[in-house]
Amino acid sequence: MAELLPLIVQAGTPVLRQASQEVPQEQLGSEWLRNLVETMIDVMRAAPGVGLAAPQIGEPWRVIVLEDREEYIARQVCSGTYDSDTLVAMEREPFGPLALVNPRLRPVGHDGAAFFEGCLSVRGFAALVPRYYAVDVEAMDPAGKPLLMRASGWRARILQHECDHLQGILYVDRMWTTSLTATENLPQWARAIPAGAMGRCTCYHPVDRLQHPGPPTPTPIPTPTATPTATATTSPMEGSG
Ligand SMILES: [Zn+2]
Repeated sequence: MAELLPLIVQAGTPVLRQASQEVPQEQLGSEWLRNLVETMIDVMRAAPGVGLAAPQIGEPWRVIVLEDREEYIARQVCSGTYDSDTLVAMEREPFGPLALVNPRLRPVGHDGAAFFEGCLSVRGFAALVPRYYAVDVEAMDPAGKPLLMRASGWRARILQHECDHLQGILYVDRMWTTSLTATENLPQWARAIPAGAMGRCTCYHPVDRLQHPGPPTPTPIPTPTATPTATATTSPMEGSG
């Protein structure tokens, strides 16, 4: 009998705006934690998405899961949303699934990257979000084993997005506001974005926009001639986590 999965809560649900709690030491390796992580992976895959934070299923704990799969990446390539240079610059590679408990994240260097991302808790939209290109993450695995990993490219983006959820931060707090698009318009919109707005850069991409004006906001002008592709709207990274 199929088990009923918890719903992914949407923006406007208070738990998404609260700081999550540390998982207590004595719960590491517990059945409760194992079940929570298994449920989160099931929910992430069913969505489908490449990441999920516990508050997104209403659980206010510092737990995230992430995974990227060959078929998701292939779907994004086939959608034609991005040109080949952009796809390469995204540095998307299959990995996982990974479950991180009580993660702490530190940026590595000052390099940044801006790409479109979305969120399973803000359904139907995507926007350009500047992130650090590389991060170090310290965490525990669900059994309580310490983990230390350095991530770059797309995996670093997912980690930053999911760790933000644990602080009550949504990608819309960091996005370049004028780049916001309905997911169904993303293929045309991504092509209309001015060259240079999307991709890696060597300037400092501050994660906290409130403390720094950040890079200039792109002012894209859409071209109505672009042909939308039906499959593009289901690209899982746009439903990130
Ligand atoms: Zn999210």
